[in-house]
Amino acid sequence: MQGLLKEEPGPGHVRLAEVPEPHPGPGQVRIAVQAAGICGSDLHILHDDIKLLVRPPVVMGHEFSGYIDELGAGVTDWKMGDRVTAETAVRTCGRCLSCRTGSPNRCSQKEIIGYIHDGAFAPYTVVYAERLHRLPDEVDYVSGAMTEPLACCVRLLCDMTVIRPHDLVVVAGPGAIGLLCAQVAKAAGARVCLVGTSVDADRLHVAAGLGLTWTLRADQDDVAAAIMDASDGEGADVYVEASGAPAAARMGLELTRRNGQYAQIGLAGGAFPLDLSLLAYKELRMVGSLGQTAPGWTRALGMMASGQVQVRPLATHVLPLSRWDEGFRLFESKEGIKVILIPGQ
Ligand SMILES: [Zn+2]
Ligand SMILES: [Zn+2]
Repeated sequence: MQGLLKEEPGPGHVRLAEVPEPHPGPGQVRIAVQAAGICGSDLHILHDDIKLLVRPPVVMGHEFSGYIDELGAGVTDWKMGDRVTAETAVRTCGRCLSCRTGSPNRCSQKEIIGYIHDGAFAPYTVVYAERLHRLPDEVDYVSGAMTEPLACCVRLLCDMTVIRPHDLVVVAGPGAIGLLCAQVAKAAGARVCLVGTSVDADRLHVAAGLGLTWTLRADQDDVAAAIMDASDGEGADVYVEASGAPAAARMGLELTRRNGQYAQIGLAGGAFPLDLSLLAYKELRMVGSLGQTAPGWTRALGMMASGQVQVRPLATHVLPLSRWDEGFRLFESKEGIKVILIPGQ
């Protein structure tokens, strides 16, 4: 079969190549992949600037959905044809403090599918049955492939931060993660302001279609004045930095109210200066999040099924896997919000 292979370490070295069809071992199932999303981290694997473990040669792709088409020995609670998606951690060490205290998403030895184990940019991929989640009927394959990024946002906003009804939540960065975070915050009862720049015009238009009608452009609007206006001069209860832009991080420390929460999910290309004395002056609480946990996957699928979060409009481009390079380019140039590849085409 044809799979998208990271062939060796270093920048580049990604191409469509003939790879062996996988078969499930004991406790595993094979999934006929129906949709697989391009993630920001895939670009980092392409450019070789990621801080997570990657072990080429490996078939990339970790955000996916499909149906079970082969059962390994001992798998009894799933059947052929079940529509599924799967958690991305194939294995964690089980011994470190994070693993032992219920947060294996933080394990430094975490082995991620598409990084270390062959992933989903191919017609078939193999996962352990315990990592499977059933797709609700309301969730199509393209949407199901976005369960992983939504579960990341659930991790940040449902586990690491506290959002109360009527809280003012400011989300910086209207990419896929920002649009998902904004919807999760809205579902929690918050007033949500989404901040982009003028280059994000298309994305802010998509946001409006998702019911995120309060949007600002940092290079045109007086964001600080608008936020202070809406909060009796206090500032945002929660600031979500989903852009990775240093200017957005600095704006966050300024806009978050005293004793408010600053939450980081965007990844900057490198280190940059930040005035952390504001943490002390304002008694801010600063958190970040990495990946997802199993309960977050269940919650993400439930939010999609109930319509509390809409993911399908984020898939601006659905392309055959054979056009992966065009997909990567559309995603990297920010022409697409989420680019989904369909293997076997
Ligand atoms: Zn991802
Ligand atoms: Zn561990």
